[in-house]
Amino acid sequence: MTNYIVVTGGVLSSLGKGVTSASVAALLRNANHRVSMLKIDPYINVDPGTMSPLEHGEVFVTADGGETDLDLGHYERFIDATLSKRNNFTTGQIYQTVIEKERRGDYLGKTIQVVPHITDEIIRRIKAVGKEASTLVVELGGTVGDIEGLPFYEAIRQLKHRLKSKVFNIHVTLVPYLAVADELKTKPTQHSVQELRRIGLSPDMLVLRSEKPISKEMKKKLSEACDVDPDCVIEAIDAKSIYEMPLKFYDDGLLKPIAKTFDLGDLKPNLREWKRLVKNILEPSREVVVAFVGKYLELKESYKSLIEALTHAGAHMSARINLKWIDSEALESADALKALESADATLVPGGFGSRGIEGKIKAIKFARENGKVFLGICLGLQLAMVEFARNVLRIDGAASQEFDKNAKEPIIYLIDEFIDQNGDKQIRTRQSPMGGTMRLGEYECNLKSGSRLAKAYDGAEKIYERHRHRYEANDKYRTAFENAGMIVSGEAKGLIEAIELRDHPWFVAVQFHPEFTSRLQNPNRVILAFIENALRNK
Ligand code: GLN
Repeated sequence: MTNYIVVTGGVLSSLGKGVTSASVAALLRNANHRVSMLKIDPYINVDPGTMSPLEHGEVFVTADGGETDLDLGHYERFIDATLSKRNNFTTGQIYQTVIEKERRGDYLGKTIQVVPHITDEIIRRIKAVGKEASTLVVELGGTVGDIEGLPFYEAIRQLKHRLKSKVFNIHVTLVPYLAVADELKTKPTQHSVQELRRIGLSPDMLVLRSEKPISKEMKKKLSEACDVDPDCVIEAIDAKSIYEMPLKFYDDGLLKPIAKTFDLGDLKPNLREWKRLVKNILEPSREVVVAFVGKYLELKESYKSLIEALTHAGAHMSARINLKWIDSEALESADALKALESADATLVPGGFGSRGIEGKIKAIKFARENGKVFLGICLGLQLAMVEFARNVLRIDGAASQEFDKNAKEPIIYLIDEFIDQNGDKQIRTRQSPMGGTMRLGEYECNLKSGSRLAKAYDGAEKIYERHRHRYEANDKYRTAFENAGMIVSGEAKGLIEAIELRDHPWFVAVQFHPEFTSRLQNPNRVILAFIENALRNK
């Protein structure tokens, strides 16, 4: 029988419910417990794939090709496990399934209602994921009281009614600090718990997000007012690094009541390696400056996995990664190359749409010509090839079809068909709707032996990394590229997956997104090699 820890949130969003959920799961995982995680998103979109990164932050891609909420990225990074698209679902998916069933006549003429049809489908999906673990941590997105969240709270109420002490609710709320009164305030938490009760749930534990330590008396007050055990009032004070949270929660005794409720005995997670890495993050022995040439700079959340992957690499190298954010549009206009010059390395991440691409090409040219350690990811690889075609091969009109539909020399192009993860042929047409036409998820990539990329992966011949893109490098130009000193260091099924430059200290670009497989305890190898080389070439 699976245990369920359901994490809900109150007062306002962005309180760190995702990190709280992932921390609880990480503690259980490091205590050798079989744990998995599920994120429920009450919004109507079927998946976040079509949302702008500026709206919702990054779209996290799972190995099986799901475009999921960025919290799934936290989960994988914290519990060092590979999750599936089934570990995230939305209101849109629930309704889609129920309506399909209704159209098929599965409900035998019944009136379809939120209770029981929608709630049953929610419970079915939670249990389907729960089957694979001994404890499933379920994070319910949004804030208690939101209209679209109601069916999910009702489903959890029913689940708790059926499974009793196999369901444990952690409610994350805010304890604001009022500077004028020099006081922490508990009222929002009390109201939030009342709201939760109104829909039939009472919390088993409170996690209180706060700027300042919460006194014993205040915890006692909240324990009484909110009807939770005194040892179930846990504080979450703003931390310098999110990776400190599991350690802080453990010290604050978060595991004990959970272990007691689920009858798990004395849980003693092994946190030695975790502690060492956190120490390296907080007190690194050196520093490296990385120029991050992006365009979604107003919302850094859109580069979440990449920023975290850099943090992981830094933790393993005991180096502070000082990111210099460079708006690619600024590079397009004036000669704003100063920042690139002073940085130790250049990073061009993935992206969509034509805004800022000329600036990125300029940054790539600078890195290539000046021997700056360089990593290009996805769009970064595509533009590195366009730059090389234009400025080294002198191919007039070299472009990507993404930005010039009728490009005379389509260095990057839209292929008509490709073989998907299941080995099935997929036909891509230009008329395809926006959602679901990309090469998505994990694909195998064969590495060229002796290449920098192969070295980064410890000499591996074959690796698996995740993709999210429509366009591909055009094989037609391959010989010309190779004759001029570009090495195709990764390929699969006739597709160019990675390139590097022969006569350069370290210039590597990959079509896949290495950041999606990086975990604190198991950093991604190309990103680690990028940082290693940046440190070496300072
Ligand atoms: N826009 C490019 C494509 O669709 C690159 C995508 C990316 O960088 N994720 O192929």
